[in-house]
Amino acid sequence: MALQLFDTYTRSVRTFEPLDPPKVGLYTCGPTVYDYAHIGNLRTYIFEDFLRRVLDWNHFDVKHVMNITDVGHLVSDADEGEDKMEKGSARTGKTAWEIAEFYTLAFKQDLERLNILPPTIWCRATDHIADQIETIRCIEANGYTYQTSDGIYFDTSRLDDYGYLGRLDIEGLQAGMRIDMGEKRNPTDFALWKFSPKDRQRQMEWDSPWGKGFPGWHIECSAMSARYLGKYFDIHCGGEDHITVHHTNEIAQTEACHHTRLANFWMHGYFLQLGEEKMAKSGGGFIRLETLIERGYDPLVYRFFCLSALYRAKLNFTWDGIDAAATSLERLRKAVYEWGAPSGEPDAGFVAQFETAINDDLNLPRALAVTWDMARSSLPAGVRKATMAVFDTVLGLGLMEWKPKTEGAVPADVQALVEERTKARVEKRWADADKLRGQIAALGYDVEDSPAGPVVKARK
Ligand code: AMP
Ligand code: ZN
Repeated sequence: MALQLFDTYTRSVRTFEPLDPPKVGLYTCGPTVYDYAHIGNLRTYIFEDFLRRVLDWNHFDVKHVMNITDVGHLVSDADEGEDKMEKGSARTGKTAWEIAEFYTLAFKQDLERLNILPPTIWCRATDHIADQIETIRCIEANGYTYQTSDGIYFDTSRLDDYGYLGRLDIEGLQAGMRIDMGEKRNPTDFALWKFSPKDRQRQMEWDSPWGKGFPGWHIECSAMSARYLGKYFDIHCGGEDHITVHHTNEIAQTEACHHTRLANFWMHGYFLQLGEEKMAKSGGGFIRLETLIERGYDPLVYRFFCLSALYRAKLNFTWDGIDAAATSLERLRKAVYEWGAPSGEPDAGFVAQFETAINDDLNLPRALAVTWDMARSSLPAGVRKATMAVFDTVLGLGLMEWKPKTEGAVPADVQALVEERTKARVEKRWADADKLRGQIAALGYDVEDSPAGPVVKARK
């Protein structure tokens, strides 16, 4: 089945075809690095990683760009209040630059622990100020901007289809939000460039044709995606909260400058919730990946937990849910381990079922059900293992590398001999297998064969 993806722009499931096959340009909005990521943020990056892996599965040549927002994201999405970075600086006593560096590293570590593939290109907003200024100049030259006492703003009334992505009710918004608009002409207008305050010096500020200041939050994504992926590329992703403001404004900027709607597909991951509330960086209920690790969970348990839900549905976080994921993952890992070495070809029937699930708009719960069916099937263990190797390129659960923690862990050289012996047995080279058993014994270990696979124990 050809890959089908839900596109928020058209609100429909569409067959995915690259604009310039087999290349695929993928842009995913990255973190604002003023604090740690919480597991809600990480759910969005896990969804994007599944997308990336499914594109790889379909033999596309993916160029994946992720930005790091290290300037310009204000406390309120309405361009008011403090810059999140400068606020983080005041909270911790570090400079805004140090904060950005620190939380970027913490973020990358979280991605690694979750087996999330790194993007092809990382790009930082502060490394692309000239690109952003250039994009604002282009929007200005095309007549879409105006200046207020605190910055250069985008005049959203100049764009006929402004708000289409979010299906915004512009007239309702115009009628309802006249108050508190300050010098803005329309409630949905947003800052492209903000001037530095007159009474104090910002840590992050740059010269521009309009005066000293810093870019608005949305412009970085229009500018950097154009630099690395061109004016119109394949897929743009983010969390569901980006639909009505951030992505709506990215589209407006790119339409005003390049006359394209930026990306062919717009995809959004739905929120992780705590009860009725969304998990947010500000506010209580802030759970980090580190919180799970401190409670004794393997980080991949969280990845497995996310697999259990469709990305287009909200997911409720509960500790019971995490416990259930931990139990299932442990069961799957043990089974896969006990099958020994892969042998033969992956089973074509199960691979086809798996592909149908993932190509059906990333139906990972169904792909997981296929995985269990395969695991419990009567296929030879080696074939199951070979099939699992293929599935795990998408699941990303590290199933092929996992080993049980034995009391007094088995040294690597013993483990290597055990694996060689399992291979010999699968290939019915009994004399070799016996010889290897002798070598293992000489190193002080016994290996017993259970129906589930080899069990290694240190000699008492
Ligand atoms: P931020 O670092 O705040 O810019 O957010 C990073 C990403 O996490 C964005 O794509 C957000 O849409 C997404 N996000 C924020 N909160 C949640 C949540 N509770 N569940 C899932 N994704 C979220
Ligand atoms: Zn963005």
